[in-house]
Order: sequence, then C-alpha cells, then structure tokens
Amino acid sequence: MDKCSFCGRTKKEVSILIAGLEGHICDHCIEQAYSIMNEELGTKSSFSFDMVNLLKPAEIKNFLDQYVIGQDMAKKIISVAVYNHYKRLMQKPDSDDIEIEKSNIILVGETGTGKTLLARTVARMLNVPFTIVDATVLTEAGYVGEDIESLLTRLLQNADYDVKAAEKGIVFIDELDKIARKGDNPSITRDVSGEGVQQGLLKLLEGSIVNVPPQGGRKHPEQKMIPVNTKNILFICGGAFEGIEKKIAQRLNTQVVGFGASKHRSRIDKDNLLQYIAPQDLRAYGLIPEIIGRLPVLTHLNPLDRKALRAILSEPKNALVKQYVKLFKMDGIDLSFGEGVLDFIVDKAIEFKLGARGLRSICETIMLDAMFESPSSGTKELVITTDYAVRKLERIDMKVLRAS
Ligand code: ADP
Repeated sequence: MDKCSFCGRTKKEVSILIAGLEGHICDHCIEQAYSIMNEELGTKSSFSFDMVNLLKPAEIKNFLDQYVIGQDMAKKIISVAVYNHYKRLMQKPDSDDIEIEKSNIILVGETGTGKTLLARTVARMLNVPFTIVDATVLTEAGYVGEDIESLLTRLLQNADYDVKAAEKGIVFIDELDKIARKGDNPSITRDVSGEGVQQGLLKLLEGSIVNVPPQGGRKHPEQKMIPVNTKNILFICGGAFEGIEKKIAQRLNTQVVGFGASKHRSRIDKDNLLQYIAPQDLRAYGLIPEIIGRLPVLTHLNPLDRKALRAILSEPKNALVKQYVKLFKMDGIDLSFGEGVLDFIVDKAIEFKLGARGLRSICETIMLDAMFESPSSGTKELVITTDYAVRKLERIDMKVLRAS
C-alpha cells in the first residue's frame, strides 16, 4: 500500500500523497519541509549594501521624474528622506553618539495622484525588497481580520525569506486614513478598534522585533514565526484623508486672526489647501500623536490637472501609450495615435471624474477591438483616430469604468 516515505502515513490518512521516483511524500511532510526551508533561509542572507543603488537626492528625483509626472514637492521630500534613511543604515558605528533617527514618510493626497507609484518607483531604484499593504485589512488582535504582523509577510516573501534583506526594505502602507479615530475628541467619540490598530502599527513604526507568520493570515499555532526587526525598515504611509481640508482651513483661520491677518489670508490658495498640511491636522483627523511622531516626513500630493493627465498618458518611461505601441510592435504592427485622441481620453477621464486610474480603463476600452482583431488581420499599420475612440467609448456605460 502507498504511504509517505517520510512519516509513514498511509494514503487514507492524508489528503495528498505525491509519488516520486522511489517513494512518496504527503501534504503534512511537504508543509513541514517548507517551514524548515523558510527557517533555514531566514538565517542565511545574501544581502549586502553594495546591492543597494543609493543615488544622491537630486539623482533620486531625476529618476522619479522619469516615471512620475508632477508632484515636485513630494518627490523632493521623498528623495531626501530616502537618501538620509539609507545613509543612516550605512553609517559605521562611531564614537560621537549622534544617532540619526529614522525618517518614515506620510503622503497625503487624493487617490490616483501617484502615492503608490512614488513609493514603488523609489524601491525599484534602490533595489530593496518592497511591498504594498492596505491598512484596512488590519484589526486589533483577537478580531476578524489580519494581525499587524502580517503586514510584513509580503515583504518577507518578496525578499525570498531573506530576513536581513527584508529588514532593510520599504513597506508602503496604503489607506492609513482608514484607521484614524473618527471624531476629534477621544473622550466623546471613542473608536477603540481604530485606536487599537494604530497602537499595533506604532510598534512596527517604532522599530521592534515582531514575529511574522511566513504564510500570512492570522497566527495559528502550527505556523513557525520568523522574527523580523523593523528598526531599519522604511515605512511610507499614504492616504487620501478625505475632508482633511476642513481641518486645515480651521487651523489656518484661527492662525490668521489678529495682527497682519488680512495680508496673510490673501496669500492662501484656497483651491489646494492640502499644500499647507501640518502634523496637527492629522491629529485632528484622528491619528494618535505617537503615530504622527513616528512619521516625521509629511508631504502632500497635488490633484492632477488636465495637463498632468495628458502627460501621464505619453511621457513617463512606461506610459500607457508606449505600452500599447510596444504590444502592437510585437505583432509587427506600427501603432500610432492621431491628433486629438489623447486629449479626448483626458477629457473623458475628467468628465467622469476617473482621474489617472481611469486613463487605463478608458484606453483599454478603446483598444480592445483593435487588440482582438489586428494580430490576425495582417495589418501593418494602425492609427487610432478620435472618431474611432469616440465610437468605441460610445458603446459602453462610463459608470462601469468608474467602478473598476
Ligand atoms: P494613489 O496611490 O495615489 O492612489 P497610484 O500611485 O496607485 O495612486 O496611481 C494609480 C495609477 O495612476 C498609477 O499606476 C499610474 O499609472 C497613474 N498615476 C497616478 N499619478 C501619477 C503621476 N503623478 N504620474 C504618472 N502616473 C500617475
């Protein structure tokens, strides 16, 4: 009778029994071998700082410019913060006792303005492990949802379980605003779970050794945890913080009352209050002061205007237009976009309030038929005209795009 050559369990006693050349292995033993492997890999590391491609701040910004349109202030601030962070890690221990503190970053801006793109691009440039996690999946220990530690599972996986490498990586925590305490006054509207999650997150941001479940999800006893020190992980948090403009306006209003007020007030750009964001606004929004203290680099992203959306379509190194041209070229087809088409796509994105995220879904809708037919039609050249784009978009309900 077939049985596992490792533990001796028979076929009936296991869910899966895989046959090899001269034996079998069961699902229990595969799992166990996998965790031993993770553990082994966790202690071995091929990481060295020579692998980190650390450029000077101005060069980092130049790199970001190739992929991200606009957002100059955010790029500058991120370039400096990232440069300082890795300089801090590379410093040799010396005797002057000056410890450079970690500079975790918080990016505030509407969705689809490039927060994730900035974080992802910086990590790619540096060549360090990177992961994006969503703060909304987190809940306090003991509740439904994922434990805070699981934030680091994906980072570990992306570092191929090389703990040393993961410990120098970057974690982008999206939707941080969703774990803000609702309401200004903690004693009146106490949102305990939001605050509890923030407390848990604080532990990671501060730098501590946390036990990470290698397979993610919730901790369960069979899973062997991998200890990870978060001291040198750079956390970049992002959030839309919808409605925070009100808090900013309130603060600016109270500040400008009094001597010289009218002069000051006239200089405030009311259409983009986000540019004046300060840590106390995050506090008023419901982040606990300890978290704010651990995110010392605060910057905003501007809403994308027509010009920026137009540039996003064609300028970045991997701009959408360039991607389609490449795709068609692989079939020997010369693809081009007629005059006005790109402006038309931008108009639609604005009209339906789809922002930068919508550009892709609009392009996909326009290009679908061409992508379906051209490879087998023998065409050598294809020009997408405005008329063509209008026709393709007419057929679909734009609400569908908005949902995507
Ligand atoms: P956020 O994290 O702010 O919600 P993302 O960075 O995920 O937004 O942006 C969504 C998509 O929109 C990106 O993948 C990118 O294609 C495009 N995009 C957004 N902002 C920019 C920008 N400033 N420059 C270039 N592309 C952008």
